[in-house]
Amino acid sequence: MSNGDALTFDIQKNPSPATASERETLLQNPGFGRIFTDHMATIRYSQDRGWHSAKIEPRKALALDPATVVLHYAQEIFEGMKAYHLPDGGAALFRPSANARRFHNSAERLAMPTLPEDLFVESVRELVKIDRDWIPTAEGASLYLRPFMIGSEAALGTRPATDYLYCVIASPVASYFKGGASAVTLWLSENFTRAAPGGTGAAKCGGNYAASLSALAEGQREGCEQVVFLDAVEKRWIEELGGMNIFFVFDDGSLQTPPLTGTILPGITRDSLIKLGRDMGLTVREEPYAIDQWQADAESGRLREAFACGTAAVVTPIGKLKGRSHGFTIGDGNAGPVTLRLKAALTDIQFGRAPDKHEWLDRLF
Ligand SMILES: *Cc1c(COP(=O)(O)O)cnc(C)c1O
Repeated sequence: MSNGDALTFDIQKNPSPATASERETLLQNPGFGRIFTDHMATIRYSQDRGWHSAKIEPRKALALDPATVVLHYAQEIFEGMKAYHLPDGGAALFRPSANARRFHNSAERLAMPTLPEDLFVESVRELVKIDRDWIPTAEGASLYLRPFMIGSEAALGTRPATDYLYCVIASPVASYFKGGASAVTLWLSENFTRAAPGGTGAAKCGGNYAASLSALAEGQREGCEQVVFLDAVEKRWIEELGGMNIFFVFDDGSLQTPPLTGTILPGITRDSLIKLGRDMGLTVREEPYAIDQWQADAESGRLREAFACGTAAVVTPIGKLKGRSHGFTIGDGNAGPVTLRLKAALTDIQFGRAPDKHEWLDRLF
């Protein structure tokens, strides 16, 4: 049985890729997650063969038996990362080994086989190399990579699948929010929680998103762009958004973000901003923050700024919070100076405009 360590990718070029002019047209207004490149990476797993059949192949629809495990029991995990165009014409990934590690941890939580971390990184690198012409060069745009794995066995018994499909697709993206860099309004979810102790909150799995969508729909009906969740036990402590972590900036210049207690997704952007904040000489605390305190601090002015962060959203200022029994504006409701400084520090490294002191970039070519 193969644990995947010695696999090499069989490269099958797309015989009818998008033409250069079709690609240019699509790249002019990519939006987020709407357009896709010519290829995908796939690797199969079966109980008796282990990892096998690593391929880069033309992107195509997956054929799944209607009894496939993922369709019924949501045995699915994913990752999100980006390839960035560099000033010298090259390209790089940002901390891909951190995504590989997290994918490994998510697989363990969902009782799935673990993909060797080197193979995960190689699959992404190979896909970006073959689809390199799809990396956008416009300001702030990048090639979003979506590795994922599903239980692909056809069986309705409730147990971990015996077969799995690992796949990576790529999507050129501009800004995640339509408004670009402007501040968003959050809806405070009081009826629904996202993750409970002992649950899957720290795993990057589709099921967490499914569980957050009613709250998001509720927030959208209230005119909000995103939802912020409280802890499931006391319904008091700020955890995170549906797909982004959260930071607070205080009047003494310090930063605070909720600690990783097992119900929060350990964001790589979160981790990077903690380090960049400390590099700037700021105090960064990983400590719980209560919703009532947030409201009191926003009203007194002790809280100056708040922002959400993640690979897709990068650093997004939070202007307002609305809820059934809460409602306040943060600062003047616009992006604050610390938020903008941190965003610039992060994106300057990602796009190769600043020295990469932490060796976070993984150069592709
Ligand atoms: C992916 C994700 C994040 C952000 O993680 P990054 O590694 O920074 O992209 C935050 N929260 C949730 C629930 C996520 O799925």
